[in-house]
Amino acid sequence: MKKIREYIEKYNRIIIHGHIRPDGDCIGSQYGLYYLIKENYPEKEVYVTGTVSEYVSFVGRPELVDESLFEGALSICVDCATQERLSDLRCTLSDEFIKIDHHIPVDNYGNYQYVDVTAPACAQIITELYLDNKDDWKLPKEAAEALYVGILTDTGRYKFDSVNARTFMAAATLVDAGVKLGEIDNQLSIETLQTLKLKGYVLSNFKISENGFAYVTLTREEIESFGVSDEDAAAQVSTISCIEGCPVWAIMLEYSKEEIRIRLRSRGPVINQLAEEYNGGGHAKASGASLPSWDQLDEFVAKADAIVKKYKEEI
Ligand code: AMP
Repeated sequence: MKKIREYIEKYNRIIIHGHIRPDGDCIGSQYGLYYLIKENYPEKEVYVTGTVSEYVSFVGRPELVDESLFEGALSICVDCATQERLSDLRCTLSDEFIKIDHHIPVDNYGNYQYVDVTAPACAQIITELYLDNKDDWKLPKEAAEALYVGILTDTGRYKFDSVNARTFMAAATLVDAGVKLGEIDNQLSIETLQTLKLKGYVLSNFKISENGFAYVTLTREEIESFGVSDEDAAAQVSTISCIEGCPVWAIMLEYSKEEIRIRLRSRGPVINQLAEEYNGGGHAKASGASLPSWDQLDEFVAKADAIVKKYKEEI
């Protein structure tokens, strides 16, 4: 934490990066850190670079910053395990770049890494950065709101095993700084008619393998026929999260003919090794992977099914 502060103080220009297809924790961490630095170092130039998540666009809408800004700057990369998944890869153009993350470290990129895999959300780490410096730092409401969204979304609203006492201490700090819980819940809970119709489709069309791997596939045409964004379609992974006898589940989305994106989830067995076999990775119980075509689907389903079978035999 001391080292992160030293990096922040060393540079007059700071550019904050996140990952591709950003989620609430990515955007929340980016903007939480942005507002925290702006408040406490008003003389510094701070930028958030990367891509937008419509779901949490009320927190902030990153734009790719101008290339001329990197020279002389520090890049801080949040919530991103591997350098290649950064939505703006130009952190290498900065004088130095550092990583702040909570994923299992597969790629120690950058000049310095602060990784805490016990934090269920990267936004918790940013909140703890504030707590570590609270004697002389202020926590503005905008930062608290962004960080709260990060923690809330990456913990499934405090549902996951990874949530610990520190998570609630961080959340309490943010509530103390003025976060309005009801307002944030409203922002995150409203669904469009198209998304609701897609949810109905997912509920009617998911499949279950022999031993209890639940999954649903969505082709490009299906996603487009519902008129939803890829991000909204991907969010449907949670729709099949509660099926009795199915401790592992996934949604497979055809982003293009060459990329079938898989969002894989578990409430029992470890699944990140399976994701790593398919060009992915992530957490023990929440991972992402991709297939080069639908031809590999049966093989993937068979491997996921075998994981569930073994898990059920062991418990
Ligand atoms: P997602 O299904 O995209 O929400 O991903 C679940 C978790 O796995 C997130 O924490 C991601 O950061 C991580 N993840 C997703 N895809 C990959 C990948 N290709 N490589 C490494 N980690 C990934």
